[in-house]
Amino acid sequence: AKAEGRNRWRYFTPAMQKAAEIRSRTVADLRSALALGQFYLQYQPIVELESGKVHKAEALIRWQHPVHGIISPAEFIPIAEESHLIIDIGNWVFQQASRQVACWQTAYGSDFQISINQSPVQFHGESSAHWASDLNRMGLEGNSIVVEITEGLLLDASETVSRQLLAYRDAGIQVAIDDFGTGYSSLSYLKKFDIDYLKIDQSFVRNLTPDSSDRVLCEAIITMAHRLGMKVIAEGVETQQQGDILKLADCDYAQGYLFSRPLSADAFAGFMLE
Ligand code: C2E
Ligand code: CA
Ligand code: CA
Ligand code: CA
Repeated sequence: AKAEGRNRWRYFTPAMQKAAEIRSRTVADLRSALALGQFYLQYQPIVELESGKVHKAEALIRWQHPVHGIISPAEFIPIAEESHLIIDIGNWVFQQASRQVACWQTAYGSDFQISINQSPVQFHGESSAHWASDLNRMGLEGNSIVVEITEGLLLDASETVSRQLLAYRDAGIQVAIDDFGTGYSSLSYLKKFDIDYLKIDQSFVRNLTPDSSDRVLCEAIITMAHRLGMKVIAEGVETQQQGDILKLADCDYAQGYLFSRPLSADAFAGFMLE
């Protein structure tokens, strides 16, 4: 017990101290970032494979830090979740995306949709309870917004989570399962909740070749999704071959560098002109 105690003690020495300091400084920076206007959204086109048309985009947040430059969401979202700052940040993302979708529905048609990523912490804080009425007030249909969530949220779906998903359904706000296939082996949540889209995770697309087992998995996911009345979006599509295999497999939509990287709102408008 003594040795264990000593080990534990050694575990919490300078390096960890340092990491904790960096973290708390980041939390402080994050706290002021919203007020200082340091966040912005980029939009990645989601292409309908059959027609080649784009009437969807995913909003992805970026942080322009005054000292460290552009910080990726993979770095700061976990810290924002832990500190619950994600609630304010998530509401900002929703607001920003709603304004953008209003503008793009005028430009590209009333079926244009923007999807936003929603963290489980936002569900537990019930911070999206007012989204439906916000859309309504802006004169937008509920299905202007697609909310991307991960499997983990649904696996242990609490009363709170279920209630909010039902509220989305009532409002017409659509729901996508992000990173599908990476989270949990249980699929029972697919019949329990009203899911509109499955997003096939990049890890199944990365090594997609005609003879790969990933091709079998993608085809199986697509068949299952369609039979359950869902559409499928493949993520991380980088090569023509991947795009061709997915189209042949009847995948509905694709997103990835093959078509476009995430773009500023202005650059997105330029992309749509092409
Ligand atoms: P995600 O939702 O799975 O988003 C897809 C990520 O893949 C994005 O990284 C995107 O830039 C990247 N990507 C797109 N096409 C390709 C491709 O062809 N190849 C490769 N290798 N990557 C591609 P990003 O923007 O760095 O975002 C990382 C993650 O951060 C997102 O993963 C999402 O989980 C989270 N995130 C981003 N924005 C938000 C947000 O507003 N709120 C929350 N809660 N999370 C966010
Ligand atoms: Ca996503
Ligand atoms: Ca729905
Ligand atoms: Ca994803």
